[in-house]
Amino acid sequence: MQRNTPFDFTLQNAQGESCVAQAWAKVQPGLDASERFALKQQIKEALRERDAVLIAHYYVDGDLQDLALETGGVVADSLEMARFGRNHTAKTLIVAGVRFMGETAKILSPEKTVLMPDLDATCSLDLGCPADEFSAFCDAYPDRTVVVYANTSAAVKARADWMVTSSCALEIVQHLKDKGEKILWAPDRHLGRYIQEQTGADMVLWQGDCIVHNEFKSEELAMLRRAHPNARVLVHPESPAGVAAQADLVGSTSALLRAVVEGDATTYIVATDKGLFHRMRQLAPGKQVIEAPTAGESATCKSCAQCPWMAMNGLQGVLRCLHQGAGEIHVTAQIQKQAHQCIDRMLDFTQQRPGALRPGLVPHLGAA
Ligand code: SF4
Repeated sequence: MQRNTPFDFTLQNAQGESCVAQAWAKVQPGLDASERFALKQQIKEALRERDAVLIAHYYVDGDLQDLALETGGVVADSLEMARFGRNHTAKTLIVAGVRFMGETAKILSPEKTVLMPDLDATCSLDLGCPADEFSAFCDAYPDRTVVVYANTSAAVKARADWMVTSSCALEIVQHLKDKGEKILWAPDRHLGRYIQEQTGADMVLWQGDCIVHNEFKSEELAMLRRAHPNARVLVHPESPAGVAAQADLVGSTSALLRAVVEGDATTYIVATDKGLFHRMRQLAPGKQVIEAPTAGESATCKSCAQCPWMAMNGLQGVLRCLHQGAGEIHVTAQIQKQAHQCIDRMLDFTQQRPGALRPGLVPHLGAA
C-alpha cells in the first residue's frame, strides 16, 4: 500500500522571506519482482491499445525509466521531454515527472491527451512562485526581459518572455545580454546567481530554491573530496554556491550524465537527485558514482537527494492513467496561448543553435 508521510519544507518568495509549508510524500508500495513484472506487462499492452507513449524524467523510479525506453518512449531532462512529446505522433502522452512537465507537454500539444501518474507531484520552485506574486514582481521591473525556469506553472510562463531549462539557460541569458537586455529571473536563486556570475548579465532574481539541491552541504562535500582525491565533482546549478564552487563541472542533468559516461575518471561525486544514478550506472557500469552529502538520511523526505514529488510516480499510477484516464492535465486556452510563446522561443533558439546544448560547453569552475 502507498504510504502518505507529511513533511515540512521552506519556501522563499521574491524578497527571500521564508515560510514553512507542508506536503505529503507518497511513498510507493514495495512490490516484489513478480508484481512489478506483471504491472509492466499490463502497462505495455495498455500503451499500445491507447496509442500512448511514456515520457519519463531522469529523477523518477528506475522501473519507469526502463519501461519508457523499452516501449519507444524516452527518459530525458525537461527540455528533451518537451521536445519529444511535441514531436511524437501518439495521441496520449503519459508524463512521469512533476506537474509543470505535464503542463508544458499540454501547452505544446493541446490536441493530445496528457496524463500524469499523480497530479500532486509538484516542485518547490513552482509552489514558491505563485502567479499573482510573480506578476506583481514583473510589474515592478517593466524594463526587464522576463526569463523563467521551466520549473514554474503555466500561469507564470504566460507572464514570461522566455522559458529556459538548465540545459540552455546560460546560453539564452548570454544571448539576451549581448543584445543589451536586462533580465528578471525566476524562480531558482542558485541557478540565477550562477548564470549571473558566468555571463555578467544585469539580473534581478526571485529567491526560490529546490528543496533537493539546496540541501547539499559544502563542508561535508569537502571532506568527501579529501576521501576520494581522484573523484570528479559534478554539481547541478540549483545547488548552493559553496557546493558549486567545488565542482569540476556545473551542469544540467543531461550534462552531468554525459560527463560520467564520456569522462576519463573512474569515480564521480554527484550533487543532484539520486534518480539520475539509475541511468548513470546503466550507461557507465564500470564507474563509481557517489552521492554528494546532504544533512538527511531517510528516503522520500527533504534532505536526502530524492525529490519527494518525483517519487510519487509509480507503476500503479501509470496503469491508472492508462486504464481510467486518471491524472489528466488541463490548461486554459488563454494561458496555453500566452505560455506557448515563451516555450517556443526556447525551442527555436536551441534548434537554431544546437551548440547551445552541448554539455561540454558548461564551464569548468575549478576546485575551491
Ligand atoms: S528535484 Fe527540485 S527542482 Fe526538481 S522537481 Fe523536485 S523540487 Fe523541483
